[in-house]
Amino acid sequence: MAELAPYAASPERSRGRRHREDAPEGRTEFQRDRDRIIHSSAFRRLEYKTQVFVNHEGDLFRTRLTHSIEVAQIGRSIARNLNLNEDLVEAIALAHDLGHTPFGHAGQDALNECMKAHGGFEHNLQSLRVVDILEERYGAFDGLNLCFETREGILKHCSAKNAELLGDVGERFLKKQQPNLEAQLANLADEIAYNNHDVDDGLRSGLITLDELASVPIFSRHIEMARSHFPDISGRRMIHETIRRMINSQVVDLIVQSSSNIASSNPGNMEDVRSSPALIAFSPQMREEQHELKHFLRTRLYQHYKVTRMSAKAKRIISDLFTAFTQDPRLLPSQFQEKTDSDLMRVTADYIAGMTDRYAIREHRRIFAVEEITL
Ligand code: MG
Repeated sequence: MAELAPYAASPERSRGRRHREDAPEGRTEFQRDRDRIIHSSAFRRLEYKTQVFVNHEGDLFRTRLTHSIEVAQIGRSIARNLNLNEDLVEAIALAHDLGHTPFGHAGQDALNECMKAHGGFEHNLQSLRVVDILEERYGAFDGLNLCFETREGILKHCSAKNAELLGDVGERFLKKQQPNLEAQLANLADEIAYNNHDVDDGLRSGLITLDELASVPIFSRHIEMARSHFPDISGRRMIHETIRRMINSQVVDLIVQSSSNIASSNPGNMEDVRSSPALIAFSPQMREEQHELKHFLRTRLYQHYKVTRMSAKAKRIISDLFTAFTQDPRLLPSQFQEKTDSDLMRVTADYIAGMTDRYAIREHRRIFAVEEITL
């Protein structure tokens, strides 16, 4: 493997863990972070949490688990090209969605609404809370005790008010600085992954069509290329030939633009990276094309009435559960009841946020359906 760039994150120069631990054997500190994330319970739950389509709508739609793996794949490819730390990018990518509620953004909006008077709910902050506090796996500390650089990458955005409460990882929001380049990269790899797989899943669901997508320049350009290479193919094969070209064009654009940003800014180390503007970036033209694609997905897919119906149901499930537990904490499972002395609202939010889609649906039934037998 090529040598890491001087501005890449390096395990030797890490700002370390919150609780001191002996150095790992046979792997680096960032590999150890990645391994801890993969072995966490929150990571396994990603398999049954969705972003747009709920699990029972079909087996082939992305889940948060397959999404996170795609983000890690795209992130690692780009990191290798830019001589950045692949292990750190992978760790951040695999952890970035750990704090998501069931039912994607509809679930988060509902939980945030429930928590409005109690500090709110934000999935980014929750991802950090999962790795810092909620995972119970070690005798010596709560959470996974990850390195600063991984934690900073997980906390993609954050209000000034919350930043003040977060200590070291909150600092950059107050100083208006950038995170390490691996964190910047994982963030954009996330965008590449979801924009493209939402096109794929949207077509698979039948809620959007190839004809409609013809109005989106980045899609029409690449489907034309695919057609000229393979005039005789159609259906799934044509969709895939188009989407793989779209992903590749965004990956290559990000590598070229970021290399040029790094060359002109010429950071000597990670501190220079923090005080520069964001160096990992798409070209202005690709940015524009992504805006058009996002706009299409928002208006045609995320706001499609069938998606909206599912979102409305999801919001009802989340707010019903929240109301039931906070009005009568005795309904909570005992391990959560034990913690409610500290803060009933936050403990309830943690419990609900940790649920998978299907667990939340079942829990709602167990509590509200009178004909339900298993409690
Ligand atoms: Mg994501």
